[in-house]
Amino acid sequence: MIAIASLPKAELHLHLEGSLEPETIMRLSERNGIALPFADADALRAAYEFDDLQTFLDLFYAGLTVMVTEQDFYEVTREYLEKAADDGVCHAEFHVSVQGHLGRGVSVDTMMSGISRAFEDGAAELGVGASMIFGLQRQRPLEEAEAAFEDFVKHPRWVALVSAIGMGGSEVGYPTAKFRPLYDRARALGWKTTVHAGEEGGPEAVREALDGLAPDRLDHGVRAFEDAELTQELIDSGMTLTVCPLSNLRLKVFDSIEAHPLAKMLRAGLKVTVNSDDPPYFGGYIGANFVAAQRGLGLSDDEIIQLARNSFSGAFLPEDQIGRYLAAFDRAIAGR
Ligand SMILES: [Zn+2]
Repeated sequence: MIAIASLPKAELHLHLEGSLEPETIMRLSERNGIALPFADADALRAAYEFDDLQTFLDLFYAGLTVMVTEQDFYEVTREYLEKAADDGVCHAEFHVSVQGHLGRGVSVDTMMSGISRAFEDGAAELGVGASMIFGLQRQRPLEEAEAAFEDFVKHPRWVALVSAIGMGGSEVGYPTAKFRPLYDRARALGWKTTVHAGEEGGPEAVREALDGLAPDRLDHGVRAFEDAELTQELIDSGMTLTVCPLSNLRLKVFDSIEAHPLAKMLRAGLKVTVNSDDPPYFGGYIGANFVAAQRGLGLSDDEIIQLARNSFSGAFLPEDQIGRYLAAFDRAIAGR
């Protein structure tokens, strides 16, 4: 069985605020004098038993309130990059909930100074490249998203760190189409586009997001597989799906790893990748997600290699950079 950590890979679906370890949340809450209803990291970790997406989101939004200073954003970003490096990640794309920070009075400069410093150190010291996905929350008002976008794009140096616009948050009951003007503005800036769909919602939610936003990539998308016609369209268009197996288990999208459709999706010809989403909340970083899929779904070495290769070809990077990553990947595989 191929050793997962030795396999070069990119992480395409990861939330900065979802990478907060319980110990980090407690450390930052003490440093910044922010009271949380948990006695210690163990008590917080014990709360990571979720009924569904909403119960997770409630804790996610409470947890991110401990991020206040430039140093906080640096440390949280850096801690993820160190774990990613151990897992063989060469490139990571961070969803950042800009609205979730601006709404608490944290400035764009504060959050981005810390994130960009960690990106520079991560590249220089850990060999992990990174970019940011400007993450919207679909359950929040359009006006709030527009205001955050306006505030952010005033800063060309931060705009340059962004590879895409994306959207997460509560899926059921919150269609995407009203956000189309912001997606079009993002495209005009040269950003790519992605959207969470087909996690909590079924194939109809994926259809709505595809029609509503015309995204370049689909986050999750696992429930699109319930619809054969939609699946064929995603295959024909070469759409990359950022699948997060442990997240799907923890949020009860599927009852067991054996019931997860990842292997069937790959074998059907969908361009799927493996990612961690919010690793401490869901019980594992990208390596653990690969291992769970490898063991639980009986993926062959060639299938594991295909999943990792897809992560580079589906990355939001310039074509020449993707070419270099793929050439290095193929050399690493040939030499194993
Ligand atoms: Zn996500």
